[in-house]
Amino acid sequence: MKNTEQVSYIRGLAEGLELDENKKEVKVLNAMISLLDNMALSISEMESKVNDLGDQLDAVDEDLGSLEDDFYDSEEDEEDDTSTDEDSDGCYYEVTCPSCHETVCLSKDLLQNGQMECPNCGETLEFDLDEHDDSDHDPQNSDD
Ligand SMILES: [Zn+2]
Repeated sequence: MKNTEQVSYIRGLAEGLELDENKKEVKVLNAMISLLDNMALSISEMESKVNDLGDQLDAVDEDLGSLEDDFYDSEEDEEDDTSTDEDSDGCYYEVTCPSCHETVCLSKDLLQNGQMECPNCGETLEFDLDEHDDSDHDPQNSDD
């Protein structure tokens, strides 16, 4: 039962007593009921205002969240664009290990070495980016 409903209930009980409103005790009782009535109304008004404030705060929080997402996303995009050339930790090229089929992420430095060990199975991976070279038909002769 809400506070306002409870006050109405108490008022109804008091009226049911058919008290003499001219008696001093009854005046005190009626004054108290009237005060309860006002307080209950004030409280319910405050509750609805607090709820409104909460809704507004949620809306502000959501807006701020999406602003933060946009802000940090664009920051990261810019960093990605510039880091590809300079940051050797970045994933510059991907190869699939023929032995375990693990996708291995190569940095530019590793790519220039021409080979590396698969971090998953240890298989030596070789990669040749000189695709202009017709090495398919004419394998390179190595003089050992
Ligand atoms: Zn492997």
